[in-house]
Amino acid sequence: MKIERVALAHITSIRLKGYRDICFVDSEDDLYSIDTDHLLGAGSNTLVKSNIMLYKLSHNFSYIKKQGNVIVIGAATKMSDIMKFCISNNITGLEFLYGVPCSIGGATYMNAGAFSKSIGDIFSYAKVYSAEKGIIYVDKSSVDFFYRETSLKGYVILEVALNCKTEKRKTIINRTKSYIKKRLSAAHIKNTFGSVFKNPKNKEFTAGEMIDRCGLKGMRKNSAAISEKHGNFIIGFGETEFDDIAFLIDKMKNSVYKQFGISLEEEVKII
Ligand SMILES: Cc1cc2nc3c(=O)[nH]c(=O)nc-3n(C[C@H](O)[C@H](O)[C@H](O)COP(=O)(O)OP(=O)(O)OC[C@H]3O[C@@H](n4cnc5c(N)ncnc54)[C@H](O)[C@@H]3O)c2cc1C
Repeated sequence: MKIERVALAHITSIRLKGYRDICFVDSEDDLYSIDTDHLLGAGSNTLVKSNIMLYKLSHNFSYIKKQGNVIVIGAATKMSDIMKFCISNNITGLEFLYGVPCSIGGATYMNAGAFSKSIGDIFSYAKVYSAEKGIIYVDKSSVDFFYRETSLKGYVILEVALNCKTEKRKTIINRTKSYIKKRLSAAHIKNTFGSVFKNPKNKEFTAGEMIDRCGLKGMRKNSAAISEKHGNFIIGFGETEFDDIAFLIDKMKNSVYKQFGISLEEEVKII
């Protein structure tokens, strides 16, 4: 285990301004020290507010192995590396997350999803740790997957096994290309943290549509702005101040409440 002072811009996808002490967990022996509330994956859906020690699985938890009908992936492995592995091994199933700058640990914890698919659909089992239970394996029947949530709160995900099927490489590449084209036309993939809010259940409009109808698209506060392309995205300019983002999140939330009477719930994690 080692502690390093790290620029937040290097470990958060919106490139937050400031520095924090990060405790890098090198091995399973270090797990006892982790505070799961302050655990960071690839930082693609997390904003760091308080001046606390953050925890991150080191590169030792970054690996991919094909074992029979599953791919076994270290929790810190980046989606871009997984996609390269899948394409070169003709493995299909994860194309919907192509272009998302997350780790598989974070994607599993959040049940990341897009294009009507989510991690829960292909999840087989995971190796996880909790202070109470130590290291255990959990399979699909013992994990609940919800919209951007799972029952894995309080656990550190160490390794994830996903069911995989093989397909012609060309078909996988074509599907990947079509998804990324849709992503790029709908939103941004750089200097953002993805969706600010969850879409409310059974409502006429999505969170982004409501924010758009409040006339907030393009609103800028110093180093951050509500995207012109997608009302539910905030983008940063250079190193982004947490306070500028927090101002915009409040504005979005209050305006939607005033106009639609709906209290939006943050999807982004604030620690
Ligand atoms: C350009 C862009 C596009 C995006 N598109 C999508 C999309 O289409 N669909 C979607 O669902 N999300 C999307 N996101 C949001 C984000 O990528 C996902 O929420 C992703 O699951 C977060 O993974 P992460 O590794 O970055 O986790 P982080 O943001 O670092 O952490 C998120 C949460 O997961 C927990 N966590 C992280 N690693 C672990 C672990 N090993 N064990 C236990 N808990 C852990 C953290 O404690 C935190 O609570 C997008 C983000 C960006 C920047």
